[in-house]
Amino acid sequence: MAEIVTFGELLVEFVATQIGQTFDSAGTFEGPFASGAPAIFVDQAARQGATAAIAGCVGQDAFGDAILRRLADNGVSIACVARCADRPTGTAFVAYRADGGRQFVFNIAQSAAGLLDAEGISPDLFEGCRWLHIMGSSLYNKGAISAARAAAEQARRLGCKISFDPNIRPELTGSPEVQRALWETLEICDLFLPSESDLRFFHPAVTGDEVIRMMLERQSLEAVVLKRGAAGSTYINREQRIEVRAFEVTEVDPTGAGDCFCGTYLACIARGLPAEQALVRANAAGAMAVLKRGPMEGNSSREELDRFIAGRSVAVRRSL
Ligand code: ATP
Ligand code: MG
Repeated sequence: MAEIVTFGELLVEFVATQIGQTFDSAGTFEGPFASGAPAIFVDQAARQGATAAIAGCVGQDAFGDAILRRLADNGVSIACVARCADRPTGTAFVAYRADGGRQFVFNIAQSAAGLLDAEGISPDLFEGCRWLHIMGSSLYNKGAISAARAAAEQARRLGCKISFDPNIRPELTGSPEVQRALWETLEICDLFLPSESDLRFFHPAVTGDEVIRMMLERQSLEAVVLKRGAAGSTYINREQRIEVRAFEVTEVDPTGAGDCFCGTYLACIARGLPAEQALVRANAAGAMAVLKRGPMEGNSSREELDRFIAGRSVAVRRSL
């Protein structure tokens, strides 16, 4: 029984310890950290009190044990995660450029994660489901795309809503097939949660506001929640616009902030909070996420988030 369901890459991640460190010469990496965008998302949704489940595939190895133990300890249902004997658990390496950008080396499609397909999307996953969350980074090969289509079909049949975070990683989105799947998901989602760079992927030549206005012409899209990094986030639907400034923190590691933001936002609206409160809490969770090195290490419980918000000023701007 899970109100929030997702699927996709369950990974461990190795994080460069020095800014400016590159992949073409030796350097120090810290890890393995439990990771994978949908894993970070679902872990945070569960830590925020939602019932949450993930489907995916890991190897019969210590990396697989590590990620599954972390999710299970935090209350995520992992009953629909398969373990595969002949492929290792997926991995990601991340390095940080001096300009704030990041470079990734992924081993997803050739790992156990690459075996996820439509058959891995069990009807059991959807018992009690209200939101299916699809991440663009989870559309990494034909099997994963078929899993996404199967999940969306089940969600639709059962009346669950679909949220979509494109989470574009240029390292993963080169093929026309992946690009088609990203567009397809954009066209069926009820709630769209891009970052500003994700918007540019879909419409490179149009400004963010104009793209969102065009997207909201599709009546079944309820709202867009735009993640703006250190600038905060914005909720936009056909009636209103709510901007919430980010909480001021010193960023240690930006990876995972967006996934953590989305996990918090969905958990909040699943328990009936209005968009504005969900946005404030999701901003706080994103800010807490960047304070810790490692993709999932800055995830937070409801109580931790309450403590973080208490005593900090919240800046909200509403307009029509
Ligand atoms: P990623 O895909 O790398 O996980 P994203 O681009 O999807 O991230 P961001 O906009 O980077 O998402 O981060 C999500 C949210 O986390 C932001 O909207 C903001 O509320 C919070 N956040 C991120 N970076 C910072 C920061 N440096 N300071 C304060 N809050 C931040
Ligand atoms: Mg993201």
